[in-house]
Amino acid sequence: MRNGARRLILFDVDGTLISTQGRAGRALASAITEVLGVSAPMERYRLSGKTDPQIVFELMELCGWPRERVAPHLGRILEAYLSRLDAALPSEHVNVLPGVREVLGALAERDDVRLGLLTGNVQPGAALKVERAGLSRYFEVGAFGSDEEDRNLLVPVARARAAARWGQGFEGSLTVVVGDAEADVRCARAGGARAVAVATGGTPTEVLAALGPDALLPTLADPSVLGALLDGHPGPGTD
Ligand SMILES: [Mg+2]
Repeated sequence: MRNGARRLILFDVDGTLISTQGRAGRALASAITEVLGVSAPMERYRLSGKTDPQIVFELMELCGWPRERVAPHLGRILEAYLSRLDAALPSEHVNVLPGVREVLGALAERDDVRLGLLTGNVQPGAALKVERAGLSRYFEVGAFGSDEEDRNLLVPVARARAAARWGQGFEGSLTVVVGDAEADVRCARAGGARAVAVATGGTPTEVLAALGPDALLPTLADPSVLGALLDGHPGPGTD
Protein backbone atom coordinates (compact mmCIF):
# COMPACT_ATOMS: atom_id res chain seq x y z
CA MET A 1 0.00 0.00 0.00
CA ARG A 2 1.40 3.40 -0.97
CA ASN A 3 0.80 6.70 0.57
CA GLY A 4 0.15 9.55 -1.78
CA ALA A 5 -2.41 10.60 -4.29
CA ARG A 6 -4.51 8.15 -6.17
CA ARG A 7 -4.20 7.90 -9.90
CA LEU A 8 -6.98 7.61 -12.43
CA ILE A 9 -5.98 5.34 -15.30
CA LEU A 10 -8.22 5.62 -18.37
CA PHE A 11 -8.11 2.94 -21.03
CA ASP A 12 -9.10 3.21 -24.67
CA VAL A 13 -11.08 0.16 -25.86
CA ASP A 14 -10.39 -0.85 -29.49
CA GLY A 15 -6.76 -1.70 -30.17
CA THR A 16 -5.85 -1.17 -26.52
CA LEU A 17 -8.00 -3.60 -24.51
CA ILE A 18 -9.56 -5.63 -27.30
CA SER A 19 -9.74 -6.30 -31.01
CA THR A 20 -13.05 -6.99 -32.75
CA GLN A 21 -11.21 -7.97 -35.94
CA GLY A 22 -13.06 -5.31 -37.93
CA ARG A 23 -16.52 -6.52 -36.93
CA ALA A 24 -17.47 -3.29 -35.15
CA GLY A 25 -16.38 -1.15 -38.09
CA ARG A 26 -18.38 -3.32 -40.47
CA ALA A 27 -21.43 -3.00 -38.20
CA LEU A 28 -21.15 0.79 -38.38
CA ALA A 29 -20.71 0.72 -42.15
CA SER A 30 -23.79 -1.42 -42.60
CA ALA A 31 -25.78 0.86 -40.28
CA ILE A 32 -24.84 3.82 -42.51
CA THR A 33 -25.99 1.86 -45.55
CA GLU A 34 -29.25 0.92 -43.82
CA VAL A 35 -30.13 4.49 -42.85
CA LEU A 36 -28.62 6.59 -45.66
CA GLY A 37 -28.54 4.07 -48.51
CA VAL A 38 -24.85 4.80 -49.11
CA SER A 39 -21.92 2.39 -49.11
CA ALA A 40 -19.37 3.88 -46.69
CA PRO A 41 -15.81 3.86 -48.09
CA MET A 42 -14.23 1.99 -45.16
CA GLU A 43 -11.24 0.99 -47.31
CA ARG A 44 -10.25 4.66 -47.60
CA TYR A 45 -10.74 5.52 -43.94
CA ARG A 46 -8.84 4.90 -40.73
CA LEU A 47 -10.99 4.53 -37.64
CA SER A 48 -8.26 4.44 -34.98
CA GLY A 49 -8.73 7.00 -32.23
CA LYS A 50 -11.85 8.55 -33.76
CA THR A 51 -15.16 8.95 -31.98
CA ASP A 52 -18.19 7.16 -33.42
CA PRO A 53 -19.99 10.40 -34.43
CA GLN A 54 -16.74 11.69 -35.98
CA ILE A 55 -16.43 8.47 -38.01
CA VAL A 56 -19.96 8.83 -39.38
CA PHE A 57 -19.45 12.49 -40.34
CA GLU A 58 -16.01 11.91 -41.90
CA LEU A 59 -17.06 8.81 -43.84
CA MET A 60 -20.05 10.66 -45.28
CA GLU A 61 -17.87 13.66 -46.09
CA LEU A 62 -15.81 11.28 -48.26
CA CYS A 63 -19.10 10.49 -50.02
CA GLY A 64 -19.73 14.20 -50.60
CA TRP A 65 -22.34 14.61 -47.87
CA PRO A 66 -21.97 17.83 -45.85
CA ARG A 67 -22.28 17.58 -42.11
CA GLU A 68 -25.64 19.31 -41.96
CA ARG A 69 -27.15 16.69 -44.26
CA VAL A 70 -25.86 13.83 -42.09
CA ALA A 71 -26.57 15.31 -38.65
CA PRO A 72 -30.36 14.71 -38.63
CA HIS A 73 -29.71 10.98 -39.21
CA LEU A 74 -26.89 10.47 -36.71
CA GLY A 75 -29.10 9.18 -33.90
CA ARG A 76 -30.75 6.59 -36.12
CA ILE A 77 -27.40 5.50 -37.57
CA LEU A 78 -25.95 4.93 -34.10
CA GLU A 79 -29.08 3.03 -33.00
CA ALA A 80 -28.82 0.79 -36.06
CA TYR A 81 -25.11 0.32 -35.34
CA LEU A 82 -25.73 -0.75 -31.74
CA SER A 83 -28.32 -3.33 -32.70
CA ARG A 84 -26.00 -4.71 -35.39
CA LEU A 85 -23.06 -4.72 -32.99
CA ASP A 86 -25.00 -6.77 -30.48
CA ALA A 87 -25.49 -9.48 -33.11
CA ALA A 88 -22.04 -9.16 -34.71
CA LEU A 89 -20.00 -9.40 -31.57
CA PRO A 90 -20.43 -12.64 -29.66
CA SER A 91 -17.78 -13.10 -26.99
CA GLU A 92 -15.79 -15.54 -29.09
CA HIS A 93 -15.13 -12.78 -31.64
CA VAL A 94 -13.75 -10.32 -29.09
CA ASN A 95 -10.02 -10.79 -28.67
CA VAL A 96 -8.66 -9.50 -25.40
CA LEU A 97 -5.20 -8.17 -26.23
CA PRO A 98 -1.98 -9.49 -24.65
CA GLY A 99 -1.42 -8.57 -21.02
CA VAL A 100 -4.79 -6.83 -20.59
CA ARG A 101 -6.37 -9.25 -18.11
CA GLU A 102 -3.17 -9.41 -16.08
CA VAL A 103 -2.59 -5.65 -15.88
CA LEU A 104 -6.23 -4.87 -15.05
CA GLY A 105 -6.18 -7.58 -12.38
CA ALA A 106 -2.99 -6.13 -10.86
CA LEU A 107 -4.27 -2.54 -10.94
CA ALA A 108 -7.66 -3.48 -9.48
CA GLU A 109 -5.93 -4.86 -6.39
CA ARG A 110 -4.24 -1.52 -5.62
CA ASP A 111 -5.92 1.03 -3.41
CA ASP A 112 -3.97 3.89 -5.00
CA VAL A 113 -5.44 3.39 -8.49
CA ARG A 114 -8.88 3.98 -9.98
CA LEU A 115 -9.76 2.66 -13.41
CA GLY A 116 -11.95 4.04 -16.16
CA LEU A 117 -12.56 4.08 -19.91
CA LEU A 118 -11.76 6.88 -22.34
CA THR A 119 -12.97 5.85 -25.76
CA GLY A 120 -14.48 7.15 -28.97
CA ASN A 121 -17.16 4.48 -28.73
CA VAL A 122 -20.62 5.69 -27.82
CA GLN A 123 -21.30 4.57 -24.25
CA PRO A 124 -23.59 1.61 -25.05
CA GLY A 125 -21.11 0.35 -27.67
CA ALA A 126 -18.22 0.55 -25.22
CA ALA A 127 -20.27 -1.21 -22.55
CA LEU A 128 -21.20 -3.99 -24.96
CA LYS A 129 -17.62 -4.53 -26.15
CA VAL A 130 -16.18 -4.53 -22.64
CA GLU A 131 -18.92 -6.84 -21.39
CA ARG A 132 -18.36 -9.32 -24.24
CA ALA A 133 -14.65 -9.25 -23.38
CA GLY A 134 -15.44 -10.11 -19.76
CA LEU A 135 -13.86 -6.87 -18.50
CA SER A 136 -16.90 -4.90 -17.26
CA ARG A 137 -16.10 -5.29 -13.59
CA TYR A 138 -12.99 -3.14 -13.89
CA PHE A 139 -14.67 0.00 -15.20
CA GLU A 140 -17.08 2.04 -13.10
CA VAL A 141 -16.60 5.34 -14.92
CA GLY A 142 -15.77 6.49 -18.42
CA ALA A 143 -15.89 9.18 -21.06
CA PHE A 144 -17.29 8.27 -24.45
CA GLY A 145 -17.90 9.34 -28.02
CA SER A 146 -21.50 9.97 -26.98
CA ASP A 147 -20.29 12.67 -24.58
CA GLU A 148 -18.19 14.64 -27.06
CA GLU A 149 -17.53 14.21 -30.77
CA ASP A 150 -14.07 15.70 -30.21
CA ARG A 151 -11.92 13.21 -28.31
CA ASN A 152 -9.71 16.04 -27.05
CA LEU A 153 -12.56 17.11 -24.76
CA LEU A 154 -12.96 13.74 -23.03
CA VAL A 155 -10.33 13.84 -20.26
CA PRO A 156 -12.26 16.47 -18.25
CA VAL A 157 -15.45 14.43 -18.69
CA ALA A 158 -13.77 11.33 -17.25
CA ARG A 159 -12.21 13.34 -14.42
CA ALA A 160 -15.57 14.83 -13.45
CA ARG A 161 -17.20 11.39 -13.33
CA ALA A 162 -14.31 9.97 -11.32
CA ALA A 163 -14.49 12.89 -8.88
CA ALA A 164 -18.22 12.30 -8.45
CA ARG A 165 -17.69 8.59 -7.94
CA TRP A 166 -14.71 8.70 -5.60
CA GLY A 167 -14.82 12.18 -4.09
CA GLN A 168 -11.36 13.10 -5.29
CA GLY A 169 -9.92 15.12 -8.14
CA PHE A 170 -7.36 13.61 -10.48
CA GLU A 171 -5.66 16.73 -11.76
CA GLY A 172 -2.77 16.84 -14.19
CA SER A 173 -0.56 13.77 -14.26
CA LEU A 174 -2.72 12.01 -11.67
CA THR A 175 -4.77 11.07 -14.73
CA VAL A 176 -3.19 8.63 -17.17
CA VAL A 177 -4.59 7.97 -20.65
CA VAL A 178 -3.70 4.63 -22.24
CA GLY A 179 -4.33 4.18 -25.96
CA ASP A 180 -3.11 2.81 -29.26
CA ALA A 181 -3.55 5.76 -31.62
CA GLU A 182 -2.18 9.26 -32.15
CA ALA A 183 -5.55 10.65 -31.04
CA ASP A 184 -5.15 8.99 -27.63
CA VAL A 185 -1.82 10.73 -27.03
CA ARG A 186 -3.26 14.03 -28.26
CA CYS A 187 -6.32 13.84 -26.03
CA ALA A 188 -4.10 13.07 -23.03
CA ARG A 189 -2.07 16.19 -23.84
CA ALA A 190 -5.21 18.29 -24.36
CA GLY A 191 -6.42 17.24 -20.92
CA GLY A 192 -3.06 17.70 -19.20
CA ALA A 193 -2.86 13.96 -18.46
CA ARG A 194 0.02 11.51 -18.80
CA ALA A 195 0.00 9.61 -22.09
CA VAL A 196 0.88 5.93 -22.29
CA ALA A 197 0.85 4.61 -25.84
CA VAL A 198 0.62 0.94 -26.71
CA ALA A 199 1.37 -0.34 -30.21
CA THR A 200 -1.32 -3.04 -30.40
CA GLY A 201 -3.79 -1.20 -32.58
CA GLY A 202 -2.03 -0.98 -35.91
CA THR A 203 -0.52 2.47 -35.47
CA PRO A 204 3.23 2.05 -36.09
CA THR A 205 5.50 2.42 -33.07
CA GLU A 206 7.47 5.21 -34.74
CA VAL A 207 4.30 7.21 -35.37
CA LEU A 208 3.36 6.97 -31.70
CA ALA A 209 6.95 7.71 -30.62
CA ALA A 210 6.99 10.89 -32.73
CA LEU A 211 4.24 12.34 -30.52
CA GLY A 212 6.43 11.96 -27.43
CA PRO A 213 4.15 9.96 -25.13
CA ASP A 214 5.30 9.63 -21.51
CA ALA A 215 5.70 5.91 -22.13
CA LEU A 216 5.42 3.68 -25.19
CA LEU A 217 4.89 -0.06 -24.89
CA PRO A 218 4.83 -2.76 -27.59
CA THR A 219 1.93 -4.45 -25.74
CA LEU A 220 0.38 -4.33 -22.29
CA ALA A 221 2.16 -7.63 -21.64
CA ASP A 222 5.47 -5.75 -21.54
CA PRO A 223 7.32 -6.27 -18.23
CA SER A 224 7.55 -2.50 -17.73
CA VAL A 225 3.78 -1.95 -17.97
CA LEU A 226 3.04 -1.21 -14.31
CA GLY A 227 6.01 1.14 -14.07
CA ALA A 228 4.83 2.93 -17.20
CA LEU A 229 1.27 3.30 -15.93
CA LEU A 230 2.32 4.35 -12.44
CA ASP A 231 4.98 6.84 -13.49
CA GLY A 232 7.93 4.57 -12.87
CA HIS A 233 6.90 3.78 -9.31
CA PRO A 234 5.12 0.46 -9.30
CA GLY A 235 5.30 0.30 -5.53
CA PRO A 236 5.68 -2.71 -3.29
CA GLY A 237 4.04 -5.99 -4.03
CA THR A 238 3.81 -5.53 -7.77
CA ASP A 239 7.18 -6.67 -9.05
MG1 LIG B 1 -8.05 2.57 -30.04
